[in-house]
Amino acid sequence: MVNRKKVAVIGGGVSGLAAAKAFDERGHRVVGFERSHDFGGVWELSRSYPDVQTQSPKDLYCYTDHPMPEDYPEWPKGPQVHAYLHSYAAKHKLHRLFQLNTNVRSMERRADGKPGWTLSLEAGSHNWTEDFDFVVIGSGQFSDKNIITHPGQDAFEAAGGQVMHSCEYTDPSIVKDKRVVVLGGSKSATDIAVNAANNGARSVHWVYLEPVWRIPYFVGGINFKRLLYMRAQEQQFNAWGRSGVSRALAALFKPLVWANFRGLETLLKAQLGLKKYGMVPKIPIEKDVSCSVPIVTPGLFEALKAGRIKNIQGTFDRYDGKTIQMTGGQKVEADVSILAVGWKLGVPYLPQPYQEKLVEPDGQYRVYRLSVNPDLPDMGFVGFNSSFCTVLSAEMIANWLVRYADGQLADQPSAAQMNENIEMMLNWKRTERPAAKIYGGLCSAPFHFKHFDELLADMGAARRKRSNPLAEQFSYPDHRAYGEFLASCPQYQAG
Ligand SMILES: Cc1cc2nc3c(=O)[nH]c(=O)nc-3n(C[C@H](O)[C@H](O)[C@H](O)COP(=O)(O)OP(=O)(O)OC[C@H]3O[C@@H](n4cnc5c(N)ncnc54)[C@H](O)[C@@H]3O)c2cc1C
Repeated sequence: MVNRKKVAVIGGGVSGLAAAKAFDERGHRVVGFERSHDFGGVWELSRSYPDVQTQSPKDLYCYTDHPMPEDYPEWPKGPQVHAYLHSYAAKHKLHRLFQLNTNVRSMERRADGKPGWTLSLEAGSHNWTEDFDFVVIGSGQFSDKNIITHPGQDAFEAAGGQVMHSCEYTDPSIVKDKRVVVLGGSKSATDIAVNAANNGARSVHWVYLEPVWRIPYFVGGINFKRLLYMRAQEQQFNAWGRSGVSRALAALFKPLVWANFRGLETLLKAQLGLKKYGMVPKIPIEKDVSCSVPIVTPGLFEALKAGRIKNIQGTFDRYDGKTIQMTGGQKVEADVSILAVGWKLGVPYLPQPYQEKLVEPDGQYRVYRLSVNPDLPDMGFVGFNSSFCTVLSAEMIANWLVRYADGQLADQPSAAQMNENIEMMLNWKRTERPAAKIYGGLCSAPFHFKHFDELLADMGAARRKRSNPLAEQFSYPDHRAYGEFLASCPQYQAG
């Protein structure tokens, strides 16, 4: 008999919604807290920059039981994703579980000696504390913006210059007739640079530290989901926990793998003209692939070709009046400086002593299956296994976490087993695959299948692969198939 728990879900984005549904479905009493006035997280409308669209194709960015509408484009726009998340919440009546405009300020172990946590909450001027038996952290990796400043910024702003974080670029009219400089190498940086160039900016400079591999929506005319998202590709990367046999096989096939990736690089260089723009990355693509690999913003290379965007490798050294001086010595006149420098990873409402159990001195997270830490009982993360198909990843881990919380995993790990696995994963990231250290090591890409295989095995799924081995080997993680695999896990109800 599984006891019904009172469960807090922090965050009302993709992950919080998946978690609320998974715990509610098992019969727990879920109370969700979202500090914004609306669901959606990064897709909430007031946080989205114009023209934002998914990197993932729509059938790789949806919950297993709720495909995106047929009339959505292959890569839906931000407002469409936002509407989709609302339709998912409506389908599962998740609104009734959430308190919006409610911020979680901190969490402490319960003082009454019972398992669980006490949350300190605030809604407007109302502050209170509430006890929970289990806490799901779904507050995302992109909730607190990274703020950086450069010498001379005050004088730049006093002279009429504007400096903003990428998430504050919500109205393209601010760049009309302005000289715009965008700092950052991510997709948000290129999305904003292209948007500014298309919305009447007088000039657009795009400044980034190092060129990285960027994947176009169509590689050699083929939708990238049909080329890059399959087991057959994934098996060519150096995954964790490889046996002696699989290492021997990898050594045997090394020349073929090498040729495959050099072929892909050659194709990308030719298709995008990377050499012409000094944008050929130094690191081989197979070593670089992780959650940080951006998709090419449509129109980026066309704008570079037409000179409507000029690229500069380096970073800002300082502002000098209305000029920005770059580390490479270039000087660029600017009216608007947009810093696409990302987000601070963390769980700011978790007090320091707990943070020390969670995060290693080098910033790597100690989390088993990217979700739980044996030294922080009665809590777990959903959405910290980010990927190239984050909605599915969130749903998978939410279903895993509720079983973990209820002691219902087919393979319920002990603290010692979890710590051993955590150490193995940390060692793999530090010594074999440095690209996996991105975002504190909280990224499951490009090992989607391996991660999902582990979760399904832990949950005791009777079905974990499609019956057609060719389809399984050569097609992307299909949400319908994963819906069936989840349904094949042992079911139960708390009560
Ligand atoms: C522009 C952009 C495009 C992207 N495109 C893709 C894509 O194509 N494919 C893909 O796989 N991923 C993509 N991502 C990654 C994206 O972050 C995830 O897909 C997903 O939306 C993350 O959802 P989440 O719920 O984990 O986090 P978020 O969306 O960040 O939601 C977290 C929520 O928690 C709330 N919160 C935070 N702290 C508190 C607190 N203390 N109290 C209460 N509430 C709190 C926040 O307000 C927020 O609503 C993209 C990200 C961005 C920024």
